[in-house]
Amino acid sequence: MKRVCVFCGASTGHDPAYAQAAAALGRAIAARGLGLVYGGGSVGLMGVVAQAAQESGAEVIGVIPRLLIAREVHERRIRDLRVVETMHERKALMASLSDGFLALPGGFGTLDEAFETLTWSQLGIHRKGLVFVDVLGYWQGLDRLLDRMLAEGFLKPDTRRLAMLADGPEAALDLLAAFVPPADAPVWATAADI
Ligand code: AMP
Repeated sequence: MKRVCVFCGASTGHDPAYAQAAAALGRAIAARGLGLVYGGGSVGLMGVVAQAAQESGAEVIGVIPRLLIAREVHERRIRDLRVVETMHERKALMASLSDGFLALPGGFGTLDEAFETLTWSQLGIHRKGLVFVDVLGYWQGLDRLLDRMLAEGFLKPDTRRLAMLADGPEAALDLLAAFVPPADAPVWATAADI
């Protein structure tokens, strides 16, 4: 694993524990000699994780749609900021630059990014795992929902395994590094199809 993509909120959340976890994740990525790929913004948990990773010596690549620069890049601190034209291009480039995905707490955007990534793995467009980094139990409800999807027959066991949960940055990076994609899963689509 060379680069990790982090999806996270464009807000920091109310509790300082969220930003503390984002900073710890940025430092942990650097300490393991990994690069960070993220949404390119300077706001919210996005800005915190990127700043911490860059200050700790990690390669940091931000990917931002041109239309969101005014909203999400208030200070241009990240050296490698790649500007794309659409939200879709952003997700595709973030995915192609990364070897695995982490989701810190966030809102609609974070969920959209996480679940699009998981559906691409499910279709065989890539075979990369995703770990939800659980801060203050933030993702517990989602984890229960995924178990319910499995129990009710809406997810297959191999697909359920693509979405992991860890209780902090170090455990999340360990899980991602150990992730083995499902063997001989069918390829239903390729990157050219998305
Ligand atoms: P949020 O989790 O809602 O705070 O958003 C986190 C990040 O997701 C922000 O950088 C948003 O611009 C981004 N985002 C929101 N919707 C989308 C989308 N449909 N595709 C790609 N990124 C998105």
